[in-house]
Amino acid sequence: MNATPDFRFDGRVAIVTGAGRGLGRAHALLLAERGAKVVVNDLGGTKEGDGSDSGPANDVVQEITAAGGVAVADTNNVGTEAGCHALVEGAVGAFGRIDIVVNNAGISRFATFPEADAENLERTLDVHLRGTWHTTRAAWPYMVEQGYGRVITTTSTGMFGLADNLAYATAKGALIGFTRSLAVEAASHGILVNCIAPNAITRPSTTAGKPNITTRQLDEARIQAMQTGLVSPMVAYLAHEDCKVNGEILVAGAHRFARWLLAVTPGYRSPGAEVPTVEEIAEHWDEINDESGYYVPANLHDWASTFMAHLNA
Ligand code: NAD
Repeated sequence: MNATPDFRFDGRVAIVTGAGRGLGRAHALLLAERGAKVVVNDLGGTKEGDGSDSGPANDVVQEITAAGGVAVADTNNVGTEAGCHALVEGAVGAFGRIDIVVNNAGISRFATFPEADAENLERTLDVHLRGTWHTTRAAWPYMVEQGYGRVITTTSTGMFGLADNLAYATAKGALIGFTRSLAVEAASHGILVNCIAPNAITRPSTTAGKPNITTRQLDEARIQAMQTGLVSPMVAYLAHEDCKVNGEILVAGAHRFARWLLAVTPGYRSPGAEVPTVEEIAEHWDEINDESGYYVPANLHDWASTFMAHLNA
């Protein structure tokens, strides 16, 4: 028997950006199936972010309504501040409130130096970072006013380091800083801000232009094991009123769910009062890097109280 009551979203309104395809579609379908009214945002462009098409957003809305759910399509470009504001205003216009923002829309333009140029960086930051920033900021006053909100950002394990992934990883890294810092401010307003690092086979992982999964790896079993819907339960948990975490990064996909830690080693403390030498760094390199006894700061103050504990001794 399942002891956990059903996690429902009745009466809640959710925006899911980039919900016309891939992971966003799966998140939107699950939230709608659980009773949320969903704004299905999608510009409908290529995986590199070119062009537009209202088809994907409309198709997902049709899918939701055919299954008895409630959704509206939105084709605003979250790569512009105006598009983000129009998206949020449209959501409030359609459903009267905004409880959940799932910042999911993304593009990928594989390149590294020197090919990765200013345009590559700006287009990538526009959608991933600025899109998240402006959409969340536009929804913020509504969430503060109602004393309730759930914000989900989307990072990537690509941030761990992947060749040719430079602007993308840069943007995804920035979203971790965004999530952690906004979470500190959010808590007092009844708002939680968390980050998902998905792992699923979708268009960017498979289509041309330096795919990050080789065709050899894409057998049918792997495709089945890496369905987008295997990520969405974690997103729905983070979007729910019973969610217990704030400012965290969760990795989800392929039937595994894990916490991504930002941790610091205890390190080496130079004993003298004089300025440590470069040679001292070299001599204590192993101690600086020793992972035993690492700690996971909840926020900057928490980190500082450990890193500089010796100043209070
Ligand atoms: P996808 O290309 O299948 O879906 C992304 C959707 O976002 C598309 O439908 C696209 O039209 C939409 N979109 C792009 N730019 C937009 C804009 N400016 N305004 C509105 N909509 C826009 O890709 P996906 O794999 O489902 O990616 C979803 C998110 O998950 C992205 O942020 C991606 O970086 C992230 N991610 C995915 C994986 C994975 O394993 N697939 C891994 C790590 C992170």
